[in-house]
Amino acid sequence: MKKIDSFLTEVATILSSEQIRSDPDSILFHAQDWSQVLTPNASAILFPTSTDEVSKIVKSASRHQIPIVPSGGRTGLSGGAVATNGEVVLSLTGLNFIGPIHEGALTLRAGAGAITEAVHKFCEPQGLTWPVDFASKGSSTVGGNIATNAGGIRVIRYGNTRNWVLGLTLVTMDGTIHTFNSELEKNNTGYDLRQLMIGSEGTLGIITEATLKLAPIPHETQVLLFSLKGFPELIEFFNACRKNFPELSAFECMDHESLESVTEHFRVPFPMATKGTVYALMEVENTSIPSLEARLEKIMEAGLILDAVIAQNGREKKSLWKYREGVAESILHGSSVHQEDVSVPVAMLPEFYSTIQKRYQEALPGWSVYFFGHIGDGNLHIFIKKPENMSLTEFQKHARNSDHELFQILKRYNGSVSAEHGIGILKRHALHFTRSEPELEIMKGIKKTFDPNGLLNPGKIFS
Ligand SMILES: Cc1cc2nc3c(=O)[nH]c(=O)nc-3n(C[C@H](O)[C@H](O)[C@H](O)COP(=O)(O)OP(=O)(O)OC[C@H]3O[C@@H](n4cnc5c(N)ncnc54)[C@H](O)[C@@H]3O)c2cc1C
Repeated sequence: MKKIDSFLTEVATILSSEQIRSDPDSILFHAQDWSQVLTPNASAILFPTSTDEVSKIVKSASRHQIPIVPSGGRTGLSGGAVATNGEVVLSLTGLNFIGPIHEGALTLRAGAGAITEAVHKFCEPQGLTWPVDFASKGSSTVGGNIATNAGGIRVIRYGNTRNWVLGLTLVTMDGTIHTFNSELEKNNTGYDLRQLMIGSEGTLGIITEATLKLAPIPHETQVLLFSLKGFPELIEFFNACRKNFPELSAFECMDHESLESVTEHFRVPFPMATKGTVYALMEVENTSIPSLEARLEKIMEAGLILDAVIAQNGREKKSLWKYREGVAESILHGSSVHQEDVSVPVAMLPEFYSTIQKRYQEALPGWSVYFFGHIGDGNLHIFIKKPENMSLTEFQKHARNSDHELFQILKRYNGSVSAEHGIGILKRHALHFTRSEPELEIMKGIKKTFDPNGLLNPGKIFS
């Protein structure tokens, strides 16, 4: 009997038949993520519904030497949850309980498979939220957010996911169930293993439950969209806003091509009268429109802004956000897209942007290259669309070459090759541009300690 068959026979004593799938449609659907460039190839997809089931499954997988790929909402953009080599996918989506909230401690218990947006909706009636927020929140899961240390649109005010996780329950590859940090706000007792797990992309342990920290929902938020002449003006404007608006909760940007992609894809009108080359979407918490306008007037005197729109009600706020949140979806729809997610220190952004923009124009003349992102955090997404008349192989070759040059430029600016999407499979070749050799050795040592046989999410982060 093959190892995989005897493993699956044992799994059938742990899970019901509905929790085990191996038909081609399930493999195609569940062994893939949003990056959509790798060919999914899994032996089976398992759907446990409790920490205990996860523990029994991985204990058996270890005994049979079966590699496991943990998976959440599969909205990842770096191939982290993709099985390409006959692994078994462990979907945590069945561990999706939410609650209870502890209103005194401002905490919430949730299963790893709870959908991010469902967590928001659950907390909303209590005037609370889990401030991890981005366009894929309707499908991404708490476990996936934690495993990728997700960033998003409010990092400028709230920080990354790691600031909003108090405790973790997780299972290591030998089947041991761990509770890291329980629910302690203060716990200086040596290495913080909870923080080590956050951002480890499913390579060290399988998160099954978490205690999340909650924040009060602001009683009022204003949303504005600006058009600007260029990137230097955008950064100067951002610096002025950061100084004048301590309540700034988002500062996002998109170039004209990105905004046009949204208006065309979603068939919505252009949002302002005066077009720019770049646009900023700003959100400010707990500020009234008159107070906002008074402070903006002074900043506007510097002549950085071509046009501005202030949302007047909830519906307008949502539709302004849609122009920014719809960018990735509008570009990805029906096209092969090469994606970058880079960051540099905010002060270096104008110089970095003008350097890479020039290089893309020279190296990929006439190609559709889109720039957008969480500019307040120094984080830029670059999406390159495959020209219609080019083969996928040719496109990938060109994209790889332009990658190499981008990463070398990034290194000069002490930047990161992955600001928030992780390394997964797709950014493995670039890791050494951001992490030194000694750092990589330490990381490999940590991996060995947690997973000595290399069975947990193999081939992710490291080749
Ligand atoms: C339109 C769009 C917009 C996006 N915007 C942002 C953004 O603004 N900021 C941002 O940071 N990301 C963004 N992303 C990327 C993605 O949504 C995040 O990385 C998200 O946190 C992934 O969650 P998931 O549940 O889909 O994880 P998956 O894609 O299923 O998995 C991601 C990684 O986590 C591991 N993993 C998943 N669940 C577990 C678990 N329970 N235990 C251990 N490991 C696990 C997987 O093995 C994999 O390595 C965007 C994606 C899309 C499609």
